[in-house]
Amino acid sequence: MGVIPFKNEPFTNFSQEENRTAFKQALKKVESQLGRDYPLIIGGEEVYTDDKITSINPSNVDEVIGTVSKADQDLAERAIQTAAEAFKQWKAVSPHARARILYKAAAILRRRKHEFSAWLVYEAGKSWPEADADTAEAIDFMEYYAREMVRLAEAKELTRIPGEDNEQYYIPLGVGIVIPPWNFPLAIMVGMTTSSVVAGNTVVLKPASNTTVIAAQFIKILEEAGLPQGVVNYLPGPGAKVGEYLVKHPLARFIAFTGSREVGLRINELAAKTAPEQKWIKRVIAEMGGKNSIVVDKEADLDEAAANIVKSAYGFSGQKCSACSRAIVHADVYDDVLEKVTALVKELKVDEAKTLGIDLGPVTDESSMNKILDYIETGKKEGRLVVGGGKAKGNGYFIQPTVFADVAPDARIAQEEIFGPVLAFIKAKDFEHALEIANNTEYGLTGSVFSRNRANIEKARTEYHVGNLYFNRKGTGALVGVHPFGGFNMSGTDTKAGGPEYLLLLTQAKLVSEVL
Ligand code: NAP
Repeated sequence: MGVIPFKNEPFTNFSQEENRTAFKQALKKVESQLGRDYPLIIGGEEVYTDDKITSINPSNVDEVIGTVSKADQDLAERAIQTAAEAFKQWKAVSPHARARILYKAAAILRRRKHEFSAWLVYEAGKSWPEADADTAEAIDFMEYYAREMVRLAEAKELTRIPGEDNEQYYIPLGVGIVIPPWNFPLAIMVGMTTSSVVAGNTVVLKPASNTTVIAAQFIKILEEAGLPQGVVNYLPGPGAKVGEYLVKHPLARFIAFTGSREVGLRINELAAKTAPEQKWIKRVIAEMGGKNSIVVDKEADLDEAAANIVKSAYGFSGQKCSACSRAIVHADVYDDVLEKVTALVKELKVDEAKTLGIDLGPVTDESSMNKILDYIETGKKEGRLVVGGGKAKGNGYFIQPTVFADVAPDARIAQEEIFGPVLAFIKAKDFEHALEIANNTEYGLTGSVFSRNRANIEKARTEYHVGNLYFNRKGTGALVGVHPFGGFNMSGTDTKAGGPEYLLLLTQAKLVSEVL
């Protein structure tokens, strides 16, 4: 292979003046491009509709990021037929050639890194470092999956017998429906789309309605990298209408979805029903929500634990599927940890995402904000409000970082995914009890344990039932290739994005045996 081994894209160090200056310039450039109109892209053709999605800045609701054409069922039909047609050629392109397009797209994105991060600041409300990490992860996904496809194409693990030439190939599935969420609108959208494509499939991409502009920007990179027309079709539109139409379509071979438990289950159910003329069982890859905990043992570095709880719970305003929303703390150190966390939370700065040095920007939209505020009201009945507890000031969807203490393990705020800056403290009698509480959820995405007790760490290693388990570190910030990501139970279909098995989900193995 003519490329260097995979290496994660470094994060930008914003303490350096030159990086801050470059990022400010990128913000200015993006600001000058706000308010533009974007078409759908079907088979390389720009399609404008009268009906539009208006994307607004969640930090400043009067600022329009852009308007994007909105697909209906007819356009969804056209997009899926186009993808099916394009599949006939694309499946014959060699895995190496497909990988080269991803390397090229990654290189273009790397060159325009700050610009894409600036779009994330404006459209998704991400702070500078959070936006930078999202863009870095998008680059990582392309670099990683390209190498993974080359590796898969070269795989030769069969038992050899004399007199026969036996080969197993990984061939593509067909048309994939890619449905990403708004919370990693670049990384997850890019990861799901480009992994599908590098595996030889064609795609109808229905981006999340809150973050359609960033997806439109990325589609231009794919074009520039030389991806043939029709391989990725960009089709913004309402999930419940356009998304469902695509999922139910007989030409859909697989659905790659990341989003909420509710929508994931709905998609799984719809995809399981065989449409007339459908020739396959649709494959559903669903990565869903979480109710993640950090367990703090009595033997632990309490300052480290508190700092990591705060980072995991409030980074991107708690809107990460991996975010910590429950601190489960051993009774002996409960008051200490609560006090340390409270002190740190009081220092957090909430402001517009474009402001350097903020800790929390806005939440994504009004309905999310109202849902989180409802949970805060529920929390006031279910626990003791320690800090925060309402809306924060500003012309956007700002919420105060909120801590509730003395929450019961079965309380609603301890069981349901809030997806906002709200943390519940739960007291555990001992370490076993803490693990029991941590496992008492229908999800199983991430979990962390802070402990210096070897026996307890080993116990948690086997008994803590989550897809991504971390010791003495936060549960957010999984790196592609380093921490393959995905959870158990209602957190999804037990898959690992950014891991060595991922492309198997997007391919099928064909064995060819020839007598010599
Ligand atoms: P969501 O409401 O489930 O939406 C996700 C995507 O599904 C969007 O593109 C949405 O389109 C579409 N959609 C909505 N209803 C649909 C339907 N009936 N049929 C087909 N598609 C439909 O989730 P979200 O609010 O964007 O994202 C937050 C959720 O994602 C959280 O639960 C979080 O934990 C989860 N998440 C999980 C992971 C993971 O790796 N496990 C990673 C990130 C996020 P519209 O935007 O048009 O509604």
